[in-house]
Amino acid sequence: MDSDDGKTTKSSCNRFSNVKDAAKQRVNAVHASLFGSKEGNGDLATVVVVGGGYGGVRVAKDLDTASSSSKDFQVVLIDRKNYFLNNIAGVPAAVQKGYADSMCIPYDKLFSERGNSTFLQAEVSEIRKDSVLVQGHEEPLYFDYCVIATGSSYSFPFKIADTLQQDAVERFGKIPDLIAQADHIVVAGGGAVGCEMAGEIKTCFPGENKRVTLVHSREALLPGDVKDELRDKTLKALQQLGVHVILGERLVDGLDTNNSPEDTTSTTDENVQNQSFLSGKRRKLQTNQGTELEADLVFLCWGAAVNSASLRAHFGSELIDKGPNRDRISVDPKTLLIGNTDNIFAIGDVAALESKMACYAGEQGSYVAKKLIATIVANKKFQNAGDVEPYRYWGHPYPAMMVPLGGKLGYMQTPCAKGNILGSPFAAMGKNHLIKSWALTVRPACSFKCPFTFISNNQTNQQSDKEDLAKALGLSHEDALLAIERGAFPITHDAATDGRTST
Ligand SMILES: Cc1cc2nc3c(=O)[nH]c(=O)nc-3n(C[C@H](O)[C@H](O)[C@H](O)COP(=O)(O)OP(=O)(O)OC[C@H]3O[C@@H](n4cnc5c(N)ncnc54)[C@H](O)[C@@H]3O)c2cc1C
Repeated sequence: MDSDDGKTTKSSCNRFSNVKDAAKQRVNAVHASLFGSKEGNGDLATVVVVGGGYGGVRVAKDLDTASSSSKDFQVVLIDRKNYFLNNIAGVPAAVQKGYADSMCIPYDKLFSERGNSTFLQAEVSEIRKDSVLVQGHEEPLYFDYCVIATGSSYSFPFKIADTLQQDAVERFGKIPDLIAQADHIVVAGGGAVGCEMAGEIKTCFPGENKRVTLVHSREALLPGDVKDELRDKTLKALQQLGVHVILGERLVDGLDTNNSPEDTTSTTDENVQNQSFLSGKRRKLQTNQGTELEADLVFLCWGAAVNSASLRAHFGSELIDKGPNRDRISVDPKTLLIGNTDNIFAIGDVAALESKMACYAGEQGSYVAKKLIATIVANKKFQNAGDVEPYRYWGHPYPAMMVPLGGKLGYMQTPCAKGNILGSPFAAMGKNHLIKSWALTVRPACSFKCPFTFISNNQTNQQSDKEDLAKALGLSHEDALLAIERGAFPITHDAATDGRTST
């Protein structure tokens, strides 16, 4: 395999067992220059994880834990930001004051003292077949194994592109005040994020003087693999909260970004660059059906853009060019390896696999970490598929989907055979549990505030809630409550009625 910097390396250089001395020395030199005092170690396999979102953090953390006892490898986690963005808390944290800190969590406590891992804040401009090119460094950083977890971007404030935690907290922290001051807020897009946003605002501001309109281009909310029951119940709950829902119309006018200073804030990369909420008193909007609206704030909730720019030069042919997985990289569904490589994985939103959700990114990260540990420590190879236990998928058509509408109302689709729909307050509880467990993964023992503050213990004890959960999970009422108490929610492998299957 030829590397772009003119140095020819053989494909075997990628594998720990066969790395040539010369290549290894280059790795060491680059490590030394990149990490200052932390010198590369010629005896260690280097695992580079690109992207520290849900998938990347999971794989890096699991590898770090294992590297405390096995000294066979080192991990380098690279992210352009110096903090983990726990964006699944993005909606409640944007509406309620005081949660910005809990959502933007520094990586400084991610790795244990005893492990052998390094976090590097940097922009990866190119992922090559044997190395990554990091902005500001001429020499590439060579790897033995690479995990691509570059994820996706979304408009601000639902994802944040500021690279420094302090800047992110400051900018994000202004959103609740803007919401509090606005008379009429338009939420554009009726997917899970848009529904959650409209519901959260109306729950926090139930009065007549805060109008919220949700505009969705399709005839039904929540596109994707969800049951109509979830769509119908979510629509009714939003209307019950007082959200004005317009279906089958698309906003076409009034979305230009030149009207206010906030509009120009660049928040995300790639396709959604410069996309932000829109502010400005009485902004005039119009739909393709001629409906006119005047809004003080407009939140753009229409889809994620895949962060695959760093893959285009060397893996362009592996990127999917159309359909729902457009711009995502194809992976072997059994091994999560990309192309014909035996050492480069892709997981999470950047990979053409499963639903694009944090929970799946995390599962894929755990799988890759397990495989890497087994492979590096036992020095196995990936070529023989028999050696590798395939990645296991939830074997049913309905993915997990939580749509809390502010903590009191909301629904979730459970990832079991029938995709049973659970009512309030399980959506908010499930989401709170997820948010908290990710926060504690990145910063163990941090003091963390759950954003769904409305749920009281009384509500969780209601008989109808127990019945809902028990019915969906096939558990007794007592076991269902136990599952919640233990945090085994939204569902554990054991509790699932149908379990998981290999492809
Ligand atoms: C508002 C909102 C609510 C959501 N709620 C839920 C939920 O309740 N449950 C759920 O399961 N999912 C939820 N999701 C979806 C979930 O957030 C995504 O599926 C998840 O973020 C994907 O994780 P990831 O690790 O693949 O990528 P990401 O979380 O997108 O992380 C990718 C990381 O890579 C870094 N990066 C990218 N490119 C580069 C580069 N070139 N160089 C250096 N670093 C780079 C980025 O800075 C980022 O930190 C929600 C999404 C949104 C927007």
